[in-house]
Amino acid sequence: MRPFVYRIAVKWRLTGYVLNLGDAGVRIIVEGERKAIENFIRELKEEKPPMARYEKIEVNWKPHQGRFKTFNIRASTKETILKSSYIPPDISICEKCLSDILNPADRHYNYAFTCCADCGPRFTSIIELPYDRMRTTMNEFPLCRDCEQEYRNPLDRRYHAQGICCPKCGPKLTLYDRKGNPISCEDPLKEAAKLIEEGEILAIKGIGGTHLATLTTDDECVLELRRRKRKRKYKPFAIMSLNIGKVREYALVNEYEEEILTSFRRPIVLLKKSENYNLSEWISPGLHNVGVMLPYSGLHYLILQEINDPAIVMTSGNSTDNPMAITDEKIISQLSHLADYFLLHNREIYQRCDDSVVKVINGKPKIIRRSRGYVPEPIDTPIEHRGEGILAVGPELTATVTIMKGNRCFPSQHIGNLSGNLETIEFHRNVVNQMMKLTLVKPDAVACDLHPNFYTTRYAEEFAQNHKIELIRIQHHHAHAAKLMAENNINEPIVCITSDGVGYGLDRTIWGGEILLATYSSIQRLAHLKPQPMPGGDVCTKYPTRMLTAILSETIPEDKLREILTKNHLNGFKHGIQEMNVVFNLLRKKNYITTTSSGRVLDSISALLKICLEKTYQGEPAIRLESTAARGKDTVKITPEINKRNGKYIFDTTKLLHDILEKVNQYKVQDLAASGQRAFAEGLAQMAIIAAEETGIKIVGFTGGVAYNEAINRIISKQVKENKLRFIEHKKTPPGDAGISIGQAIIAAAKLNDTNE
Ligand SMILES: [Zn+2]
Ligand SMILES: [Zn+2]
Ligand SMILES: [Zn+2]
Repeated sequence: MRPFVYRIAVKWRLTGYVLNLGDAGVRIIVEGERKAIENFIRELKEEKPPMARYEKIEVNWKPHQGRFKTFNIRASTKETILKSSYIPPDISICEKCLSDILNPADRHYNYAFTCCADCGPRFTSIIELPYDRMRTTMNEFPLCRDCEQEYRNPLDRRYHAQGICCPKCGPKLTLYDRKGNPISCEDPLKEAAKLIEEGEILAIKGIGGTHLATLTTDDECVLELRRRKRKRKYKPFAIMSLNIGKVREYALVNEYEEEILTSFRRPIVLLKKSENYNLSEWISPGLHNVGVMLPYSGLHYLILQEINDPAIVMTSGNSTDNPMAITDEKIISQLSHLADYFLLHNREIYQRCDDSVVKVINGKPKIIRRSRGYVPEPIDTPIEHRGEGILAVGPELTATVTIMKGNRCFPSQHIGNLSGNLETIEFHRNVVNQMMKLTLVKPDAVACDLHPNFYTTRYAEEFAQNHKIELIRIQHHHAHAAKLMAENNINEPIVCITSDGVGYGLDRTIWGGEILLATYSSIQRLAHLKPQPMPGGDVCTKYPTRMLTAILSETIPEDKLREILTKNHLNGFKHGIQEMNVVFNLLRKKNYITTTSSGRVLDSISALLKICLEKTYQGEPAIRLESTAARGKDTVKITPEINKRNGKYIFDTTKLLHDILEKVNQYKVQDLAASGQRAFAEGLAQMAIIAAEETGIKIVGFTGGVAYNEAINRIISKQVKENKLRFIEHKKTPPGDAGISIGQAIIAAAKLNDTNE
């Protein structure tokens, strides 16, 4: 901000100064002719730098004193004026810096870390506020004479840019072998690209984390990476292409997708494979789409321009279940069984930040993972917290944390799965501390999930005790609903379809297919999927045939069901017939918990159609069902059945599965997948429409992980609108559990407001 202010102040011949405050606010004092000052203010508003965001501009006029002779940038202060701070996310390399690194005459030629005031790392490199080089990871790299000159030249775009550097003074790349011995070579970048071209697997330390890179056109390379990442049987790998032209060689890109791909945020975008898709099928096995990103730093550009393949694999460099490795030591020790070589640099990554993931659904972007390029940008809500701030610790899986101050939520980057993983737990603690530091918030309340056994719940209990602040427990699906309402600026009750995998319910059973009457501080369960047995509990998630057996066992006699399963689905049980017997035993003795999870129903359809019999990554059976359905035609007559029981509407999912089973031999798998999925969506929509009619509510929302399913989303939105109801969906935050912490914070604020009134 300061260089821009400087330039326009000088342009209008004003004197005075500009300085950064401790909360990302800026103070400007100018003296001059009134007309010139008015022009200055107009330009300040109209011509602001691309990344700048104004919360408010406050102008105070004072009589002229003639205190200043020139205009200067002064040293930052720790003083704060804003309700909350705002620091920018990491910004992809800009066009000007890109042309510098490609220009042999420029001193930044071929230099991977080139940046300017408009681009480069921010969030991942800032240690604390105010944002000055000495409080970033660039502190270790004093500017050389040339860089210093640019830094001090008001006419240069690197004027007062905190992260600038060049081959003389900035971070350096080194190539290492598998054992961590440095390899001497003239240009580690070119050498690394050559090794990738030769089919090796490289770990590349980048901006906010580390990637594993290899060729995309060679099955052997991709399969070798899968073999080494033992648990990575089918989970898709993200890939990176040099430019949009290369992406079009293998994927379809519509205008929305292009805009997101090329934005300064540079997330991974899930794109449909084109007919000419010629990359290895093993990149996203069984799926109709592939996760693609464009280069977001000089480092990536310089590697990719040396490579002939239309894309390279760029998947997170982590060992099983651990967060991404970011220190050189961890990268080498944790990834030595995965990578043949390491391309590392000597700049510290202060905050780990995974690549963000976006999927465009029916022309609208849905954020799956809101991380690099987005964090720590806030989300404004219609709920105001009147105290200091709220910390929301998130759920257990795909966790994020959120800090709320005033009416503003600051969601953190992606943290990951916390169940029993020590490194992720440490990362979670570290993120909580960093988010409090960057937002300058000392929470006066902490929010967590209702589930008593989550790590995050225990953490919140401890935090509340240590800080002597209030602890507020939030039901999982309520958090989904509240966040949806908040980002649509809704201030009245809604009917909310929350459709996902699992969430601990108010009745202590597992919910996941709920029609809720939701306000910010309360929910009422109006309708839901039929509760189904989960013989063996969580193992049903891994082996969906167990769930299928349980669902069908209600209407099909045991011996007949055994016959069907033995013929077609025996390999859906980990230990074959023996395990099938165990499942029937549990069912006969009614020894199980029940669930209304949508995920388990979609998984069961996937298992029934033999699309996916074992879950190897989160959501896999349902994701592959969607991909299969996308290739099919919805031509099979299957209709959902909804019954009223004890005042609640229940969607009979047993009948749904039964209907699909009856037609298995008459139709193509992809058509049955499309129609089964459609009937499921219709069932959810119909329950919501009835609930809206009966309650007189005019707004129906759709949230939860199932909202990522394009067909289901389209069908629900169409039916809701056809019934003259307003349909709301997520635009700014993830529909799935990555957004739960935001909802937790909002509900906590609303509940506190209720009790204080
Ligand atoms: Zn730049
Ligand atoms: Zn330099
Ligand atoms: Zn959820």
